[in-house]
Amino acid sequence: MSMNYALLKKAVPEGKLAHFLLFHGSGAEERYRAVLDLALVLNCRGDGEKPCGHCPACKKILSGNHPDIHMVKPFKASIGIEQVLTFQSKIYRKTYEGGFRVCLMEEADKLTLPAANALLKITEEPPENTVIILSTSNAEGVIGTLRSRAQTVYFSPPNEGEWKDEIEVFRLSGGDPDLARLIQGYGYQQVRNWIEKYLKLIYSGDFLELFKLFPLEKQEILLLLQVLAHTLKGMVAAKKISPQFLYEIGAAIEMIRRQANSRLVLEVLAIKHIRLGGTEIG
Ligand SMILES: [Zn+2]
Repeated sequence: MSMNYALLKKAVPEGKLAHFLLFHGSGAEERYRAVLDLALVLNCRGDGEKPCGHCPACKKILSGNHPDIHMVKPFKASIGIEQVLTFQSKIYRKTYEGGFRVCLMEEADKLTLPAANALLKITEEPPENTVIILSTSNAEGVIGTLRSRAQTVYFSPPNEGEWKDEIEVFRLSGGDPDLARLIQGYGYQQVRNWIEKYLKLIYSGDFLELFKLFPLEKQEILLLLQVLAHTLKGMVAAKKISPQFLYEIGAAIEMIRRQANSRLVLEVLAIKHIRLGGTEIG
């Protein structure tokens, strides 16, 4: 059963917080902020409403120096067994501050099978006063045995109003906060420019236009493709292009992530794009 964060927080004062959680939805930063908030609520020693934000525990958490807060993220492409074993060796110790240990595993869909199994064992014999939180934008990618064991907490994406200054970025991202932040990183105009060059190639059938897109780095092509998928959703809805093309974009992204030659992938995709329609402007 899935719940939202507000509901989860209510379980804290009642001492009913589940010890193993799966945070998904919205963006990585929104989920990270919720983990921080939960750590504060669980450890705040202030009087009155919690978190107070200025007791020693709150201060340590906010400055990233609290010894009972553990953050794990993939070293490389995945979270391997060594990372989980290192994590394990830390969390069965006494808590330094006698407080509540909060452990976050980011990009939990990148746990390898042996790592997921090691983590599963930990959740079967959880250390005291500890909550382990998996965070992911792809809950389906988390190994099933782990997923079924965790209490899932869904975060709704922010709405347009929350991006008022950068509403164009938000729209270009299709409302995906992770993608919106990537676009901000490269600059809105830059990303629009790539999309326009790509579409010009499709509309004109002139493959020389493709060369104008380069030198694009792998990460830039990945971003271009993700934004392209959102840009074309309207055309799919208007039946100007086959919905299969969105699937093709997804497949292209996967191939590039698996180290295929990104330039070649983009060329093949453009050929499919022209074949599947979407060459009318509008
Ligand atoms: Zn406090």
